[in-house]
Amino acid sequence: EPESETEQVRTVCSYCGVGCGIVLEVARDAVGRRAVVRVKGDKAHPANEGRLCSKGATSAEMLAIPGRLTRALVRAERDGEATPTGLEAAVAEAGRRLRAVVDAHGPDAVALYVSGQMSTEAQYLANKLAKGYLRTSRIESNSRLCMASAGSGYKLSLGADGPPGSYRDFDHADLFLVIGSNMADCHPVLFQRLLERQRAGARLIVVDPRRTATAARADLFLQIRAGSDLALLNGLLHLLVERGEVDQEFIAEFTEGWEEMPEFLSHYPPAAVAEATGLPEADLRRAAEWIGGAGEWMSCWTMGLNQSTHGTWNTNALINLHLATGAICRPGSGPFSLTGQPNAMGGREMGYMGPGLPGQRSALDVEDRAFVEDLWGLPAGTLRAESGRGAVEMFERMAAGEIRACWIICTNPVASMANRGTVVEALRAAELVITQDVVADTETNVYADILLPAALWAEAEGVMVNSERDLTLSRRVVDPPGEALPDWQLIAKVARAMGFTEGFEYGSAAEVFEELSRAWNPRTGWDLRGVDHERLRAGPVQWPSADPGGPDRNPMRYLNDGVSQDALVRRDGTRPRLVFPTASGRAVFFPRPHLPAAELPDDDYPFVLNTGRVRHQWHTLTRTGRIARLNRLSDRGPFIEVHPQDAAALGVGEGDGVEVTSRRGRVLLPARITDRVRRGECFAPFHWNDLFGEHLAVNAVTSDAVDPISYQPELKLCAVALTKA
Ligand code: SF4
Repeated sequence: EPESETEQVRTVCSYCGVGCGIVLEVARDAVGRRAVVRVKGDKAHPANEGRLCSKGATSAEMLAIPGRLTRALVRAERDGEATPTGLEAAVAEAGRRLRAVVDAHGPDAVALYVSGQMSTEAQYLANKLAKGYLRTSRIESNSRLCMASAGSGYKLSLGADGPPGSYRDFDHADLFLVIGSNMADCHPVLFQRLLERQRAGARLIVVDPRRTATAARADLFLQIRAGSDLALLNGLLHLLVERGEVDQEFIAEFTEGWEEMPEFLSHYPPAAVAEATGLPEADLRRAAEWIGGAGEWMSCWTMGLNQSTHGTWNTNALINLHLATGAICRPGSGPFSLTGQPNAMGGREMGYMGPGLPGQRSALDVEDRAFVEDLWGLPAGTLRAESGRGAVEMFERMAAGEIRACWIICTNPVASMANRGTVVEALRAAELVITQDVVADTETNVYADILLPAALWAEAEGVMVNSERDLTLSRRVVDPPGEALPDWQLIAKVARAMGFTEGFEYGSAAEVFEELSRAWNPRTGWDLRGVDHERLRAGPVQWPSADPGGPDRNPMRYLNDGVSQDALVRRDGTRPRLVFPTASGRAVFFPRPHLPAAELPDDDYPFVLNTGRVRHQWHTLTRTGRIARLNRLSDRGPFIEVHPQDAAALGVGEGDGVEVTSRRGRVLLPARITDRVRRGECFAPFHWNDLFGEHLAVNAVTSDAVDPISYQPELKLCAVALTKA
């Protein structure tokens, strides 16, 4: 009889950016085979203190999902059968063909499209290969669809990307303003923490065009007209000024740009804001009164603010409110963007989109380029001071024939990109499409010439960074199936196959991490010098971490203590309590006027379509859609929510097919009639795509108009026509 023994391994959830700690019970039989037999929340992890949502709790089932890609597949012809191929041969072919495209057409003919679900080590190597060795300016990530606007907004207002505080603030806030975020469904564990504080007396204001599960728990729900957030945020600040509830001392000491604000805000009186937002004036006044009266208050947001053609401005306007009330960088106060993916924070820190370089650096900055060339052992002048204009533009250039080869890692853009017709056109036009994934059948893999088999969560080791800057080591406890390998190893292998042998010889993910942690950035406070895989085996560490013997928790940024970033002494000899990594050391007010969305309803397309997610499912269903327990818990399939009065006018009943058309495409969805949505607006989740039936992909109709600063597409708002199918 084989004896079995079990061990407990601390690791991290692979779904959302809350980054909950997980303890795996791993059994090993007499011949050493290991299996995850139990998943439980890690009580010692600061992100969740033992809690897990349904997705995290079913993580073990993820390891047994059907359809795993266990061998490389190669198609001799684009529409032909994919042939199983030895990994070494497939990697060699990928390297040879990528090299041939670069040699024939130059580096910008090759693009990488990567993911916030990869480990930090894989993100780092993808960027190193793209910018340092291929010298292409074409590396983008799916964070462009998610947090790009929060990132560009933070950089302008505060000088660096990322929330200034941490989850600890949820335990101290007196008021939460949750705007454009369905936390209850999409960040459930953190929402539980918020509710605990609400039970202790804190107030919750929820702003959303749709009455979500989050809105159901609100003390004040502002069911705003889609796309009118800037009017609301400016209107709230107008009222705070009118009530005398701005913190003049904080403004004078730590900010710049306030002098323009009073005149600017005079254009947002309550009556005008009520008109623009569709909200009752009394509710606006109540919200301002509650914010002004709160000792400590936090704002939380996700896609509702980010997926907008003025997403960066939305972040700036929200931060204006914090700066004006002095509610930032204090326990219980601050703007807190809720990251969608488990390691989008790590990816942003690794610079995996646009001009980014490791350590929150930019290829547009001469000193940052020199620093990274030195880190990578490259000759001066290797890094280019150029970058593309986001993922939408990247696929447009591919469709136009300028980008001829792409390598898509750990993401499914045919399902997730706005106006996906352009992505399909691009992949069809490309000479070479390489995908790297854990499953064989995805909407994107259909277009691949070479499919590389990747390891899944718990089959690979690597560091994940959550929304509060916590680094947790995701542990390898079982072997990947067949020839599948961790993403970082596949990237290093293909790089070597292209002839880049020197920069990509690593024995382990820990070695890659050791190299990337040398990218310390004293300007922004990004500091991992005190962290390595060995330390992370004992538990998470929150950056900045300068010293291996230093504290594990560093919950507040921008303190002028020489730890958060370089200490500042002003010319007059004073040493402010806070220093922001802007040119002046001060946070910046930006007057951001309310502008309409890129596409508004008209006679031909009279409805506003909003898209999003449902509880118990994740993105394009490549994992959660194959987990029986989650499918039993969640909505069984796609739907479109239509207001009862609109449904009556259209002659549509519950469950009837609705044809949804926009200027870009059409989709057919069953109706769900509900007053959760406002009249004239409708909502559909983006989870269900081609694998579930024809004409289900809601991104066939969404808008790819982008924010001119963040290049994030306006996935949350486009004009559609609805007809009974
Ligand atoms: Fe995983 Fe997010 Fe759920 Fe936590 S809240 S268990 S990180 S999906």
